[in-house]
Amino acid sequence: MGEYSRRNFLKGSVVGLAAMAGAGALAGCAPKGAGSGGGAAKDGMTYADTIEWNGEYDVVVVGFGGAGAVAARYAAEEGARVLLIDKAPLGNEGGNTRYCGQLIVYSEDKEAMKKYYAGLAAGHDLPEDVLETYCQGLTETKQMLINDFDVPEENFQHWKDDCSLQPLIAHFLPEYPEIEGGEALDLISVNREEQGFSHLWKAYRKKIDSMSDKIDVWCNAPATHLFQDPVSKAVIGLTVEKDGEPVNVRALNGVVLSCGGFENNKTMVEGYLGLSKFTVSGTLFNTGDGIKLASEVGADFWHMEAYEGNCFHFGGVSFPIKETEHSLRSVMNNPYLVSGSYVVVGDDGQRYMT
Ligand SMILES: Cc1cc2nc3c(=O)[nH]c(=O)nc-3n(C[C@H](O)[C@H](O)[C@H](O)COP(=O)(O)OP(=O)(O)OC[C@H]3O[C@@H](n4cnc5c(N)ncnc54)[C@H](O)[C@@H]3O)c2cc1C
Repeated sequence: MGEYSRRNFLKGSVVGLAAMAGAGALAGCAPKGAGSGGGAAKDGMTYADTIEWNGEYDVVVVGFGGAGAVAARYAAEEGARVLLIDKAPLGNEGGNTRYCGQLIVYSEDKEAMKKYYAGLAAGHDLPEDVLETYCQGLTETKQMLINDFDVPEENFQHWKDDCSLQPLIAHFLPEYPEIEGGEALDLISVNREEQGFSHLWKAYRKKIDSMSDKIDVWCNAPATHLFQDPVSKAVIGLTVEKDGEPVNVRALNGVVLSCGGFENNKTMVEGYLGLSKFTVSGTLFNTGDGIKLASEVGADFWHMEAYEGNCFHFGGVSFPIKETEHSLRSVMNNPYLVSGSYVVVGDDGQRYMT
């Protein structure tokens, strides 16, 4: 069971960070103006001049989940004109950020978190700067949500203080008590009254809506191709299938790939994770497009075999979950989850997980 436990969460997260950093290295770090294809000038023409652009932004953010919302918000604050796109139709955007348990890992003790997360990632390469940045972020998340996403401080629930509303959450505090540093880990959520119900996602959505003068949002708009200057290697734009029509958007200062994982891409799941029987919880739209797009422009990958267990439920077989087990838990507060097998059916009757 440990193979799909939250122990792999950090490893999965590091994949996400690497993908973001890769996107930055490929795109965002290009000097201002490089996006115009300056590196490939020939006969007064640049590579960018050879493309029929339908629109232009400073920054394009691919994927409107939590990562995309945060990237778009801060780019806009820095003065960028931002396009934020999502593959899902309007009303389904938000990715797993929308459907997840809305629990945020938080701590006031960065050094303890570094020990804990280094322990969680044991056996994998974990560069010090990645660990440092990740754990620094854990200590800043609450203040960031207060200052930059308008979440009132009094709305926060600190689960370490009180788990009586949802006793199962205590199992994550910490999930691996045998690893040093875990005692300093807290889980917080942004609504004291109600756990879940997309409250974190709603805070992100509201903030993005309030910045509509700086951020355009397109739903039903998957990114399908990145344009890369052949000389400078800068990513200078992308093709978006906007409502089914290809649109070439120039990105003067970078493209951010924040388009989730590959849990709904059966081939990738089988190939990278070796899983064949499973159902997927969360969004239907994370199909590994970011992996394909980044591959297209020469990105390297790491830790592809590590994954976050919340995304998968294994079809056909239901697992009995024992209260004492540390390896598989669900944040859903249903007594049947700790006493036997279960099947959860969506309220439209179309989707299920076991
Ligand atoms: C059931 C469940 C419960 C969870 N509970 C928790 C929890 O309580 N706490 C926690 O910390 N983590 C939890 N997680 C994990 C957490 O949800 C994710 O790690 C997090 O939401 C990832 O955020 P993201 O922005 O990277 O991706 P996502 O939120 O998944 O967003 C990716 C977005 O990219 C879009 N997209 C995909 N392809 C394209 C494309 N080609 N072009 C444009 N857009 C595209 C998708 O439509 C999606 O909206 C849970 C996950 C699940 C599935």
